[in-house]
Amino acid sequence: MTPAKINARLSSPVTILEGIGPKTAKAFARLNVFTLEDMFFLVPRRYEDRTNPKPLSDIEPGETECAVAVIDELSVSYGRTEAVISDWSGSARVTWFTDKLGFLREGMKIALYGPVSERYIVPQFMHPQFEILTASKAPTLIGKMFPIYPGTASLTQRAISKFISSALTQYSGECLKEFLPIRILKHYGMMSQRDAVLQLHNPRDNDKLIRARNRLVFDELFLLQAGIIMRRRQNSGKVRSQALRPGKRFSAFMDNLPFTLTDAQRVAAYEILTDIEKPYPMNRLLQGDVGSGKTLVAVLAMLACSDSYAQAAFMAPTEILAQQHYINLKASLEPLGLNVALLTGSLKASERKKVLADIYGGKVHIVVGTHALFSGSVEFANLALVIVDEQHRFGVLQRNALTAKGISPHVLAMTATPIPRTLIMSVYGDLEVSTLNELPPGRKPIRTISLAPHGRGKLRGFVRKHVRRGEQVYWVCPLIDDGERDLASVSSVYQHLRDVFPELRIAVIHGRLEVGEKAAIMAEFSAGRIDLLVATVVIEVGVDVPNASMIVIQDAGQFGLAQLHQLRGRVGRGTAESVCVLLENEGITPEGHGRIAAMVESSDGFALAEQDLRNRGAGEICGTHQHGVTDFRVADLVRDEKILLLARDEARKLLAEDPDLLTEPQLKQEIMRRLGRVLELAVTS
Ligand code: ADP
Ligand code: MG
Repeated sequence: MTPAKINARLSSPVTILEGIGPKTAKAFARLNVFTLEDMFFLVPRRYEDRTNPKPLSDIEPGETECAVAVIDELSVSYGRTEAVISDWSGSARVTWFTDKLGFLREGMKIALYGPVSERYIVPQFMHPQFEILTASKAPTLIGKMFPIYPGTASLTQRAISKFISSALTQYSGECLKEFLPIRILKHYGMMSQRDAVLQLHNPRDNDKLIRARNRLVFDELFLLQAGIIMRRRQNSGKVRSQALRPGKRFSAFMDNLPFTLTDAQRVAAYEILTDIEKPYPMNRLLQGDVGSGKTLVAVLAMLACSDSYAQAAFMAPTEILAQQHYINLKASLEPLGLNVALLTGSLKASERKKVLADIYGGKVHIVVGTHALFSGSVEFANLALVIVDEQHRFGVLQRNALTAKGISPHVLAMTATPIPRTLIMSVYGDLEVSTLNELPPGRKPIRTISLAPHGRGKLRGFVRKHVRRGEQVYWVCPLIDDGERDLASVSSVYQHLRDVFPELRIAVIHGRLEVGEKAAIMAEFSAGRIDLLVATVVIEVGVDVPNASMIVIQDAGQFGLAQLHQLRGRVGRGTAESVCVLLENEGITPEGHGRIAAMVESSDGFALAEQDLRNRGAGEICGTHQHGVTDFRVADLVRDEKILLLARDEARKLLAEDPDLLTEPQLKQEIMRRLGRVLELAVTS
């Protein structure tokens, strides 16, 4: 039989099975089952474990139970059959809502499966499924695990089971051929693909089921990893980047650094510098908690870039942040002879023209900006490195748009919202990751407290204490003006705080102010000429004023977990004892309450991010839809991380030995069949 024919079989429509006409096919379509393959891989939602019938003394009211017993008494009335049953351990009652069970006799041994309630302390099966047990026939109701499929109204469990088992008996042999290398099968003692699929629908016991699942999960992840490696190989060599090496300015900068790098910064910098000195594009994510010092690592890469006579672009998610990076980079890099420019959407036309000319002419070494950096009109003389700060604010697609500007710079994305490794490996495939897992020394932990509406009295004292020490305070509100929703707004809170603290210098900042005004206010705040800054989340990411030691977040339940953590990260950047006060609003939701509790409990951004992932799901974290790459049938990226790592290692090993899979034609064919289109793999021989 030729391989092509096998594929045709897997893709055969379900109507190939006897008994499936257009109507049943339509019902299956509602379960996204169109082909034999879809049937084979229709994963049961759960299983009913009826491997071990329970002694009657152990069955629990409120559960669905499985038992074997003898009928002691039987009584039939209109529309109802009642029985008393017993086994060696005890007895129970049974009620069936039918009077058509005339074939039952006292003394018969039956197996039962169904919901149990309680009547006068005696457990009672309510209308259970049952079967009469005889010595000559194996029981069908008990002794195994029963799959429960995702349901539809028009297709009963029994029908789904029946059709799947007929598909398995007739076609699994010829359709489900082994494709994994024998070495891997042997090494992990895996069952064959076909056995795994058979066990998935008809597991002998829980142990077999787990082994079957593991095999199928491995398949999905291994094929994907192999496909990703093959794609990388196909694309590599086509795109080239400039090799960047540290030189004089880099050394000068390091010599003048007022502190030493943390070990984590050292490792990350090494990884990045090693990448960018190669002539093909780096694609790396630098993740590190708020305040871990990502910017400094980026600066080192940018220095290597300008030492190599190329330009670097630094993209920030907000104008405030771009402004701030611009000011800081200018201060630390201009003394080394580097030109730093700022390009945001709100530059005056004349300024913009000059900056664009300087970028195009190569006068500017480092451009800081918002996404305006990569609008059509910006042309670089020699762009070799792109830094994307706070990557979680950008969709992946935006980043692709940026690298697609006809050039292929090295890209370093930075985020304080870690993306789980499993997701990175599956969705981004060839993204490398560096992690800053420590904070610079001397940081004091930020004390986080939550205050219910009636506990606000203390707050004034807190604020005054911080200001008296010469420190500064952020006060964050969800709204700019009072709106329909009953939440705190910057304008009303500002009025109120001016009455409460007449002696303090208070200012407001929010997204509706002119960029110039925002910049001026941030500059005043940085310079310590404002005590209390009433703000919206415009200050959410990256804003770095080490002298700010207190942040109050009003209506904290309104904000997401990642956002709260980011906001909290605005303080604790200096040596002062910092505090984050979360004010709960009146109508706080249980979820909001949970987020506040999580914040009080943990200051670990990675732990919080993981919780966030669990609450929000993977799709949202990616910032884009997942290209169908992670449309697994069996695998689950959160649960199956271990298998993913194994699968990746095995795929790497195999493809290193045999890049074109010449020795594994079935495997190659399976990769192309399952993923060829999704990964845009070209057929090569
Ligand atoms: P983030 O990772 O949140 O972007 P930043 O890059 O803004 O953090 O760094 C936070 C602060 O820590 C900055 O003021 C920076 O100058 C300082 N910093 C960075 N690295 C070190 C270090 N190795 N030792 C001491 N301070 C550092
Ligand atoms: Mg930062």
